[in-house]
Amino acid sequence: MLPIEVQRAATLKPKPSSEGLGFGKYFTDHMFRMDYSPERGWHQARILPHGPLGLDPGAAVLHYAQAVFDGSKIFRGKDGQLRAFRIDDHCKRLAASADRLAMAVVPPEVAREAIEALVKLEADWVPNAPGTSLYVRPVVIASEAFLGVRPADKYIFFVILSPVGSYFAGGAETVRIWVEQEHTRAAPGGLGGAKAAANYAAGLKASVEAKKRGYAQVLWLDALEHQYIEEVGTMNLFVRIGDEIITPPLDGTFLPGITRESVLTLLRDWGMKVSERKLAISELREAHKKGELREVFGTGTAAVISPVGGLGFQDGELRIGDGKVGEVSQRLYETVTGIQNGTLPDRHGWMSLIK
Ligand SMILES: *Cc1c(COP(=O)(O)O)cnc(C)c1O
Repeated sequence: MLPIEVQRAATLKPKPSSEGLGFGKYFTDHMFRMDYSPERGWHQARILPHGPLGLDPGAAVLHYAQAVFDGSKIFRGKDGQLRAFRIDDHCKRLAASADRLAMAVVPPEVAREAIEALVKLEADWVPNAPGTSLYVRPVVIASEAFLGVRPADKYIFFVILSPVGSYFAGGAETVRIWVEQEHTRAAPGGLGGAKAAANYAAGLKASVEAKKRGYAQVLWLDALEHQYIEEVGTMNLFVRIGDEIITPPLDGTFLPGITRESVLTLLRDWGMKVSERKLAISELREAHKKGELREVFGTGTAAVISPVGGLGFQDGELRIGDGKVGEVSQRLYETVTGIQNGTLPDRHGWMSLIK
């Protein structure tokens, strides 16, 4: 067991009501922090009041973007118990992301202990209204003050927590998505397969432009040919054509989503025809012409399933199905959230108790 020093906040913040939680607006009272140096490795694990990190302005992260993160959720079940969703997979992915950016890697079991210790201390912050949860954000940044270009030799690993609401608050709704034909997010051989902060910076401009056009997010196409679908916003993408459910194969240009993997597992459990294959935008448009484009949805920790009702192109908009939430999207949303809040059986061992 990792020795964790605990320094409690002198005053606690009032807890927000579950109605207005939104996503990522509120932070709990405490955070976890641990530091890395070549001599000491990861050291000084501590829980302290949520607050500034005290970075030197020369810190490598501020210049060369050595920063990776992850995001997972803790749920309060009907029985009052706290459960994490696929926490080991999230901790392993954080390690893989750090490795891709030549950063010090937090061993997954250490990250898990850190998260569990912090969540236990902040247990009162886990909301219990339907659709709410405690979002866990572990982050690793390069903290060494040095302007030469090489991997930094000092790092900070911290974990912050945020109580979050349901994306489906007023009932499930579809979003309209802009198909981005100009900007790209990640190229083959690049950082797309890591949860790197830099990938988000690369996507912001296109998402602002999509919003100006009246679209909620961007559908990203591949960087080489601008043909094949990759992701939607910061979610993995699924398309249902006839009875085939298609998602692009993991090729390193987008993140191996844990929701994506869970959805693939459920669809296969249900005996549905699932393909991990390339899907060109021309094939999607062709399917729409024939009336076979039935559903499009994104998958990710924050929204779980985000059904798409329309796809915007320079020459007009394609309506997906009848523009409402499709049956597979609905069933997946209910099943994943049911497993998460403990109302459905957890057949794949995705949930772990935090006690
Ligand atoms: C986090 C993320 C996802 C979704 O991954 P989950 O593990 O399902 O939350 C998809 N794409 C990108 C770019 C992401 O950063």
